[in-house]
Amino acid sequence: MPSLTCLGCGEEVDISGLKEGDRFECAHCADLTLELTRQEGGLTLRQVHRVSCPSCSQVLEVPKHAKAGDTMTCCGRMFRLTYEFGAYALE
Ligand SMILES: [Zn+2]
Ligand SMILES: [Zn+2]
Repeated sequence: MPSLTCLGCGEEVDISGLKEGDRFECAHCADLTLELTRQEGGLTLRQVHRVSCPSCSQVLEVPKHAKAGDTMTCCGRMFRLTYEFGAYALE
């Protein structure tokens, strides 16, 4: 069976039947969403990060290519993305 290593727990996860762009939750990790993505000809996993808006608490998805220092907008305000201890936040 095709499998990849979960970024959260290091367990092998079964990706049979999944294709590029598909998302799933790791069975071993709480609240971790993984997306199957193609990189250098092979399939790999990336973690779908989420942040909550400091103003309205709405949960936003961090865009695929976002990095610390990027800005995101919510409820008409602009926030800066920070990355600490393996998690993103807005400030
Ligand atoms: Zn996991
Ligand atoms: Zn907001």
